[in-house]
Amino acid sequence: MNEIARGTIERLIAVVGPQGAITDPDDMAPYLVEWRDKWRGKSALVLRPSSTAEVAEIVRICAETGTAIVPQGGNTGLVGGSIPFEGGDEIVLSLGRMNRVRAVDPLNDTITVEAGCVLADVQAAADEAGRLFPMRIASEGTCQIGGNLSTNAGGTAVLRYGNMRDLVLGLEVVLPDGRVWNGLRGLRKDNTGYDLKHLFIGAEGTLGVITAAVLKLYPRPADRQVAFAAIPNPEAAVELLSLAKDVSGGQVTGFEILPRLGLELVMKSLPDARDPFGDLHPWYVLIEMSSGEGGGALREAMETALARGYEKELVADATIAESEAQAQQLWALREGLSESQKLAGGSIKHDVSIPVPKMPAFIARADRALEEVIPGFRSLAFGHIGDGNVHYNPLQPEGADAEAYLARWQEVADVVHGIVHEMGGSISAEHGLGRLKRDEVRRYKSEVELELMASIKRMLDPDNIMNPGKVISP
Ligand SMILES: Cc1cc2nc3c(=O)[nH]c(=O)nc-3n(C[C@H](O)[C@H](O)[C@H](O)COP(=O)(O)OP(=O)(O)OC[C@H]3O[C@@H](n4cnc5c(N)ncnc54)[C@H](O)[C@@H]3O)c2cc1C
Repeated sequence: MNEIARGTIERLIAVVGPQGAITDPDDMAPYLVEWRDKWRGKSALVLRPSSTAEVAEIVRICAETGTAIVPQGGNTGLVGGSIPFEGGDEIVLSLGRMNRVRAVDPLNDTITVEAGCVLADVQAAADEAGRLFPMRIASEGTCQIGGNLSTNAGGTAVLRYGNMRDLVLGLEVVLPDGRVWNGLRGLRKDNTGYDLKHLFIGAEGTLGVITAAVLKLYPRPADRQVAFAAIPNPEAAVELLSLAKDVSGGQVTGFEILPRLGLELVMKSLPDARDPFGDLHPWYVLIEMSSGEGGGALREAMETALARGYEKELVADATIAESEAQAQQLWALREGLSESQKLAGGSIKHDVSIPVPKMPAFIARADRALEEVIPGFRSLAFGHIGDGNVHYNPLQPEGADAEAYLARWQEVADVVHGIVHEMGGSISAEHGLGRLKRDEVRRYKSEVELELMASIKRMLDPDNIMNPGKVISP
C-alpha cells in the first residue's frame, strides 16, 4: 500500500475533530507499541472517535480511499493484532472514547456497553446494579470490551461462566463498507438464521469494528472460597479438579496451576507475596468456588475437597483464605506471574489448550522434547488448567543470553505446537493469532477450515482494509 494521502488524513480528522485525532509522534507512541515491546508499528494518524456514527463515517472514507484500519482497544493483546505494521500506511482506530454504559437491565440480566469501556468499569457497573459480569483477566484495568470480544478473551472464570463468546447476546458492528449492523438484541433465544455475532467475536478486527455489545449478567455470589494447595504433580491437579467439581456440585469458578519456579518469581517481583507453606513443593493449584448461597456450605465443600485430596495423596498441604483480603493475596500469587516472568530473562510464550486429562502428559512431553533442543531451559507451565489451557512459557537457561534464546522462538514453538497438534490441542487457546501465529496456524488447520476463513474475509472485506495481514495471510 502507499502512504496515506494528505487529503484523506484531513477528511478523517474532520470527522472526529481535533480532540479525536493524534498526529504528533510522541503522543502517538503508546498506540504503536505492544505492551511487551515485541512489536513497534508506524502510522500517520490515530483516530479516537466518540460515537458509532463517527466510526461509520471513518470506515466509509477508508473504504473509498483504500486506507487500512487497525482497530485498537486497551492494547493489551499478546499477538500483535492491535499494532499497525511498519509501513506507516494504516490508521489506528482507538475505541477508548466510546466508553458509555448505554443501559443496565437487572431483570433481563443484561448490560449494554460501548466497545471502549474498560473491562473493570463494566464489572463495577454490574456490581452497582447488584449483578456480576464474570469475565476476569489480569489486564482488566486496561483492556476494553471491544478487544475482549475481538479476541474472545478467556481468563480465570471460564470454567464456570465460559469465555467472552459465551457472555454476549448482541453486537453493534460497523462493517468494512461503513454500514452499521445493529444486532444489539438482549435475547437468550433467537434462531432466525445464522448467528452473525459469532463471526465478529474472535475476528481480531479483521471483519469490522465492534462498537457496542449486550453482555450477560449473573447473580453476585453470596459466598466465595479461595484455597491454595500444594500438589505433587499436574496429574494430581486433574484429579483434584474433578473431585472439587463433584464435591461442590459444579461450583468451581477457577482452577489454576503454577509450578514452584512460578511462585518463586512472583515472590521476587511482588514485595508482599509470601509462600503460604513452610515446605517447598513442586506444584500448586489455586481453587476458587463461588455460590449464590451463604451459610457455610461452600466452605464445607472446599474443606471436603481438600481433605479427600489429602487422603488420596493429591494434596500435600493447603490453606483456605479466611477473608477477602487473604483471597486476594492468594490470587496475587497466580496473577503476578504474567509480569514476574520478565525477571527471568528470555521467555518463549505459548498459549495452548489440550483436553484437560491430557495436560500432564503434554507438559511432560514438551519438557522432554525441549530439553533435547535447549539443554538447561527452565520449564514454566501455568494458568487455566481447569479449562485445559496453560501458558507453556519455557525460560532461558540460567545465565544464558536472552537475545540469543529469544532468537530461537520459532524453533521452540515448532516443537511445542507440534506436540499440541498431535495431542488434539490448539496453538492459541485465548490470545488469538494476530501477526504472531498467522502463518504458523496454516500448518495446523485443515484446507477446508482455511478456505472457509478466507472466503468469509473476502465476502465481508473484499478490499482488505480491516486489519490486513492479521489472522489471515495476505
Ligand atoms: C497481564 C496480562 C494478562 C492477560 N491475561 C489474559 C487472560 O487471562 N486471558 C486472555 O484471554 N487474555 C489475556 N491477556 C490478553 C489481553 O488482555 C486480551 O487479549 C484482551 O481481550 C485484549 O483486549 P484489548 O482491549 O487490550 O484489545 P487490543 O489489544 O487493543 O486488541 C486486540 C485485538 O482486537 C482487535 N480489536 C480491539 N478492539 C476492537 C473493536 N472494537 N472492534 C474490532 N476489533 C477490535 C484489535 O485489532 C486486535 O486485533 C492478558 C494480557 C496481559 C497484558
